[in-house]
Parts: sequence; C-alpha cells; structure tokens
Amino acid sequence: MTQGLLMSMMLLVAMAVVCRSAEPPVKDVVLAIHGGTAGPKESLTPEREKAVRADMKRALEAGYAILERDGKALDAVEAAIRVMEDSPEFNAGKGAVFTHEGQVEMDASIMEGNTRGAGAVASVTVIKNPISAARAVMERTKHVLLSGRGAEVFATKEGLETVDPAYFWTERRWQQIQKVWEQEKQQAESLDRKNSAAVDQEREPWGTVGAIALDNAGDLAAGTSTGGRSNKMYGRVGDSPIIGAGTFAENGVCAVSGTGEGEYFIRFVAAYDIAALMKYKNLPVESAAAEVVFDKLKAAGGEGGVIALDAEGRFAAPYNTPGMYRGYVTRDGQIEVRLYAD
Ligand code: ASP
Repeated sequence: MTQGLLMSMMLLVAMAVVCRSAEPPVKDVVLAIHGGTAGPKESLTPEREKAVRADMKRALEAGYAILERDGKALDAVEAAIRVMEDSPEFNAGKGAVFTHEGQVEMDASIMEGNTRGAGAVASVTVIKNPISAARAVMERTKHVLLSGRGAEVFATKEGLETVDPAYFWTERRWQQIQKVWEQEKQQAESLDRKNSAAVDQEREPWGTVGAIALDNAGDLAAGTSTGGRSNKMYGRVGDSPIIGAGTFAENGVCAVSGTGEGEYFIRFVAAYDIAALMKYKNLPVESAAAEVVFDKLKAAGGEGGVIALDAEGRFAAPYNTPGMYRGYVTRDGQIEVRLYAD
C-alpha cells in the first residue's frame, strides 16, 4: 500500500470519528432529558420550537429543584417526565400519538441504579402520568411490568390520577393520524402493508420523553414515557417500558433513556448494551453510546438516539436522526436545551 493511500485512509477514519463525536460530552451534568427524535428542521414551526423549548426548560427546572435540595435522582426523573407528559408538545401523556384504531396506548418505565429496582406499564389508556404508575409498580408490587387493564386497575387502586381517554385527544395528533390514514388508503393498492407502514414512519418522527439523573448520594436513575409509534397496531409495545431496551440505570456505570424505532432498541437491548460496553470494555459513556446508536442501531436500519449519563456526571446524547430534542442541567444549575446540531 502506498504511503499516500495509507494517509488518505487514516484521514477518512479520523473524519468518521470526528463526525460521530461532533458533540463533545458535557461534564458535571446532574439531570438530562429528551423529548424524542426530531424530523427535518424545516418541519418545526417557530411557535412550536418556542413551546418545546419552554416545556423542556420547565421539566429541567422541576427535576433540578429536587436535586438541588439534596433530593433523589429517582424523584427528579419522575418530576421532569411528568412535566413533559402534561405538555401537548411531546409524544407521551397529553400529547401521545394515535394507534391505527385511533386510540392512545402509552408505555413507560423507570429504574433506579442503587437497588436495580425497576417498574413499568405498557398499553395504558387512562393513566394521566404513566411514569408515576411505573414507579408505583416498582415500589408497591413484586413485579416489574404491568400491562393494559391490569396496570390501570392497579393504578386506580393506588390512587393515581386517571382520566377519560378523551383527555389525550389533541388536534395536532388527530391531523397527523388523518394524513397517515389517507396515505394508507392511497397506497393500499400499490404497496403491501409492511411497506406502507415504513413510509408512514418516515413522515412521523417519534417524540418519546425521557430523563436521567445523578444525585448527591451518587445514585443514578432513568425513566422513559411514550405514546409509542404513530399508527401502531393495537397492543403493540415498544422499547420504552422494556428495561434494558429503552431504559436502564446502574450505579457506578450509567443511566440511559432512548428514543426511536423501539423494535430495534428491543432487539439490540440498546440501553443495557451501552452499560455493558462501559462495564466490560471500559469505554467512556460517549463512545459506548455512539457505538450503539451508530454502529449497531443505524447500521441495522434503526433510527433513534439516547441520552446517557455516567456516574461522574459525564453526559452524551448521540442520535442518528435529523435532530433530537434534548437538554441538561449542570451541578451549578446551568440549563441547556438543544433540538438540532446547531
Ligand atoms: N421508542 C418509542 C417506541 O418505539 C417511540 C419513540 O421513541 O418515540 O415506542
């Protein structure tokens, strides 16, 4: 091999590395959130951008207020996610997307790194804040995941707030699903069902919410909440309530919450894989997260991103989509919210 060729190859490798770590890890982070992956920048109106940023800031403030008073990472994660679940801007709680049948079915999970305790709910339709139901499953049952009617009966008995499914109806999501149904109708003759679903998903970025935190005691926690994928089949469950796929936390290692095509996150056990790369291969959080998001998920055709925080407060947020709504607070209270690369 000539020296010139070798030099060009080395340059290419170096460029690839630079692209992958375009956003250097941030230090001293105590709480980070995501509001899901984002489609092309042009699709976000200035009004929506303003609303998204404002609600993400409120979510970070709610979580930070707890951590600042020496509170628990788990409480901060729940508080931050509840703010986003109550906002119509995200695909979780109030702003959840519709299924193929025009219903809302939500999934959520939460995990604490000190005990490896975890709780989750799947396919729930009347629980106002699924993240709190997930936490109740963790703290008040001997199980990890409750689904559907069972989860709802449990949440009601535990005194969690339930609402009429009409509460989750929003004009924006309704218009979105109408377009998808219209498109489906038009494609029915020319494409098979699988292909038409793929086209739908390209039109619709995901938009799950998640939070990860590190408290003064050194405990890590992670949580994720979602309406799942727009136009999903009745009963479909994604990665968000699956511990190790969409959510994971282990003290001394990392806390992770993911967003994107859940089927890939489940098959690649994405959140746990990041922790495993850190534990067994000694990779820093940013390299482990990038390896999973780019070399594993993206290489297999899976779109999405993660937020990941290590035990020292080092934060990384790689994504392989046009954007990912994300934000963090540092130990001294500095808040940053970013939606795209610039
Ligand atoms: N991962 C979620 C799911 O597949 C969707 C999302 O992140 O927006 O259910």
